[in-house]
Amino acid sequence: GVPGPDMRPAQAAIPGIKHIVAVASGKGGVGKSTTAVNLAATLAALGFKVGLLDGDIYGPSIPRLLDIKDRPAMKGDRVIPIEKYGMKVMSMGFLQDEESPVIWRGPMVVTALMQMTRDVDWGELDFLVLDMPPGTGDAQLTMAQQTPLSGAVIVSTPQDLALVDARKGLKMFKDVDVPILGIIENMSTFVCPHCGKESEIFGHGGAEADAHRLGVMFLGAIPLHMDIRVTSDAGKPCIIADPNGVHADHYKKVALKV
Ligand code: ADP
Repeated sequence: GVPGPDMRPAQAAIPGIKHIVAVASGKGGVGKSTTAVNLAATLAALGFKVGLLDGDIYGPSIPRLLDIKDRPAMKGDRVIPIEKYGMKVMSMGFLQDEESPVIWRGPMVVTALMQMTRDVDWGELDFLVLDMPPGTGDAQLTMAQQTPLSGAVIVSTPQDLALVDARKGLKMFKDVDVPILGIIENMSTFVCPHCGKESEIFGHGGAEADAHRLGVMFLGAIPLHMDIRVTSDAGKPCIIADPNGVHADHYKKVALKV
């Protein structure tokens, strides 16, 4: 059974960090990490002090999404996050190579994450964006419970199946009393890179309808567009690749709602 709100241990806030915002999804492959990276970079471009923590210990993708190959330095026994595009970034991926996956058990994952929130020298932050591992398993539940989260953002594709999973994600945060900041519909419509025509490949609007039904805020829709995939692969968030472009605008709208 999932513990009720009364079982959520009181977590001490992390000194210097105003808000920790989790970016979560009910399952993998919906673009959660891409969204987390773009959101964090956009908040930084808007002038906030931003940290980005890759909570995906098993498949960290943030080093690749931000093209970071450096290893973090230490200051005493604290890790100094890597600065990129105006953000402070930490990922387990900085400490391992991409070819060798980490095989850790659940409790170790949570311990590692707690260390990354508390033993990293974040300094003063307005937002620490936490890219959660996909899904709603025990590790995610414990993370949601033991991290002093201000709120959670759920990323979903418009497909029913993803939405069913997204609803599980919503429920998980509600059960541990973490406020839901809203739902982002990713891969919303497909914009053809050749002719610019929009098609609703996965059906469109499912997340918005769902958000209204569940009484949570709809934070916006991000189209499925080649440029988003290409710039991600090149390690550049949209706001960096094309600061005044249409995709940067989408993320700006979402960031301002968060
Ligand atoms: P998750 O974190 O949910 O597993 P990722 O963020 O790694 O998903 O995204 C999965 C793949 O989809 C990546 O190749 C990414 O570049 C691509 N992707 C994510 N969002 C979009 C989008 N809006 N348009 C195009 N490609 C996207």
